[in-house]
Amino acid sequence: MATLSARKLVKRFGGLLATDDVNLDLETGRIHALIGPNGAGKSTLIAQLSGELAPDAGEILLDGKDITRLPVHARSLEGLMRSYQLTSVLPEFTAIENVMLSVQARQGHSFRFWKPVTGQATLRDPAMAALAEAGLVQAADTPAGELAHGQQRQLELAMVLAGEPRILLLDEPMAGMSQSESREMTQVLSRLRERYAVLLVEHDMEAVFSLADDVSVLVYGRCIATGTPAEIRNDPEVRKAYLGEEE
Ligand code: ADP
Ligand code: MG
Repeated sequence: MATLSARKLVKRFGGLLATDDVNLDLETGRIHALIGPNGAGKSTLIAQLSGELAPDAGEILLDGKDITRLPVHARSLEGLMRSYQLTSVLPEFTAIENVMLSVQARQGHSFRFWKPVTGQATLRDPAMAALAEAGLVQAADTPAGELAHGQQRQLELAMVLAGEPRILLLDEPMAGMSQSESREMTQVLSRLRERYAVLLVEHDMEAVFSLADDVSVLVYGRCIATGTPAEIRNDPEVRKAYLGEEE
């Protein structure tokens, strides 16, 4: 059984069919890349999987259980999480302090009662483990606002990992990165594969084809192909609809 499944998902924005009967399976130990041109509906699909957007039809199953109507918070408690772009990062706090706040949130404490937490092993140890998974241990004590762009994206990932996810939904984690930053993030994501089910939306084709176990191609809301990277590369319809436009 897939860890997370989308079945015949449909989402309309007025007359626009943004998600057109999409099926998608994520499995622990696999990175499933979702590619497609701008406006294809990739972010809309992620928003439905995470619970921010309600589909108009179809269902979403987590470990076989219907979660289609479950709110974001309840899904995240079940281990289904997406990354956000730096919305929750506090720039004056160090990287480790930011991750400790995520650990604290996971442990159910209210932010209103937040006290200086440096040195508290129950927060610090899991925060350090999350930073290590995200490849950012060396910057643990750097204020988040002073991190390079690539490192900020790694911090954002560490903050998600601190929430103890099982399924990671990543919307363009390499956006705006330099080549060397993308390579670093590629290595980080590659190491995550083992423990998580990962959905990776990404424009960097080098990263996609080196990381993905499965690739799905979305065009105008419709999934036109799912297969291994090699199958997708050689699929004539995919080449015509998408990859071909870059040649
Ligand atoms: P992608 O992430 O693949 O670039 P999106 O999922 O962001 O694509 O968008 C898919 C289509 O749905 C686009 O045509 C976009 O303009 C439209 N769209 C996305 N969100 C909304 C919204 N909240 N209201 C209306 N149209 C939207
Ligand atoms: Mg998008």
